[in-house]
Amino acid sequence: MSPSRRSCYGALPVRPYDLIKAKRDGKSLPPQGIRDFIAGYTSGSIPDYQMAAMCMAIYFRGLSPEELGAWTSAMLESGQVLDLSDIPGVKVDKHSTGGVGDKVSLCLAPMVAACGVAVPMISGRGLGHTGGTLDKLESIPGFRVDLSEDEYRRMIREVGACLIGQTAALAPADKKLYALRDVTATVESIPLIASSIMSKKLAEGADALVLDVKVGAGAFMKTADDARALARTMIEIGSRMNQRISALLTQMDQPLGRAVGNALEVSEAVSVLLGSAPDDLTEVTLALGAEMLLLGRAAADEAEARRLLQRSIESGSALAKLEEIVRWQAGDPSAIEGGSRLPRARSILDLPSPAGGYVSWIDAEAIGFAAMTLGAGRETVDGKIDPAVGLVLLRKVGDPVRAGEPLVQVHYNKDERLEAAKMLVLQAFRFSTAPPEPRQLILERLR
Ligand code: URA
Repeated sequence: MSPSRRSCYGALPVRPYDLIKAKRDGKSLPPQGIRDFIAGYTSGSIPDYQMAAMCMAIYFRGLSPEELGAWTSAMLESGQVLDLSDIPGVKVDKHSTGGVGDKVSLCLAPMVAACGVAVPMISGRGLGHTGGTLDKLESIPGFRVDLSEDEYRRMIREVGACLIGQTAALAPADKKLYALRDVTATVESIPLIASSIMSKKLAEGADALVLDVKVGAGAFMKTADDARALARTMIEIGSRMNQRISALLTQMDQPLGRAVGNALEVSEAVSVLLGSAPDDLTEVTLALGAEMLLLGRAAADEAEARRLLQRSIESGSALAKLEEIVRWQAGDPSAIEGGSRLPRARSILDLPSPAGGYVSWIDAEAIGFAAMTLGAGRETVDGKIDPAVGLVLLRKVGDPVRAGEPLVQVHYNKDERLEAAKMLVLQAFRFSTAPPEPRQLILERLR
């Protein structure tokens, strides 16, 4: 039955127009109306322009907890919902709301799996200034992110972790809706972001989820208040649907770690497993990993969880697990061992610091755009990326530097992109004469 013919207020027919008007005027939408609207949009009977108008109405009016529950369920039910209950143990995933230099998934999944908690991880691609786990993984020669459902299940059962992309069958309403929101200025809406993330995560079959909600210049949520509201909304959706969730608010003013760019980030993620990574990257990975072990009931408290994760690094079991994942997903494990098989840029330039003093600020968004300008990110959904290019920050916030000393290493293949990228990098840095106040990395934990 077409959504325009079917009644959600008893006998009266409710047209998509009436639902849009109701939301525009601040009225609440009935659950059946929401289900029909999402189903109609997914099947194509409700056109993009009506969904765009609905998203704009939601952007301004919001959704009540009941409406949000119905909206998320309808998005979830637009596709297949995987059931992994035949695989023993608690399955726990992690999702980041997106940032620059955020390569945590690559080292976190093998660490947590090495500690005995299965990680069914469905990741995304980068768009705009933010990177995506799938693009990073694909810089490993041969690595496949498009596994079948059977392969996905087998890996979770036998390896304890799997890192794949969203298939067409999982939450197709979100795939279509996210692309529409991206071009209609309706991305930055807490109910729309929360339902988008949660519909995908609930579809993948995990029992529990740890959210890394990024806050700051390089994140969607620029303030801790907004990030907290987003985290609370997602926790609320999860608890209505029996998924246990915890969330960390983590700082994303400057990039995480030093590397920004796909193959460069794979190397840096491996360095976490070798115990030689930058402190901020290791700390965020351990904090998220501890939450995952607690939700997976593999540790009694945070201190024990951290000990187990540290041991997985020191014993080499986390690195061995990453190699196992890479082999199972048809990647070349020698790319992990030593990194020499990862793609490398033809040219590397050390960009000198224009000033001396202390680095007081690095704008993560500008660094993300600089890496994208070099070809590390795509400018359109279908754009091609260059896995080898990117940036290595030789100085981070708080580090002293002398004028003329190397500040950033630029890895590039196209000379014509270099000048624009250099300008963006230099604009991202600020300097001070005194050391800046240290900033907290993990801002808050919510459950
Ligand atoms: N990530 C998502 O998956 N959806 C959003 O709406 C925003 C970030």
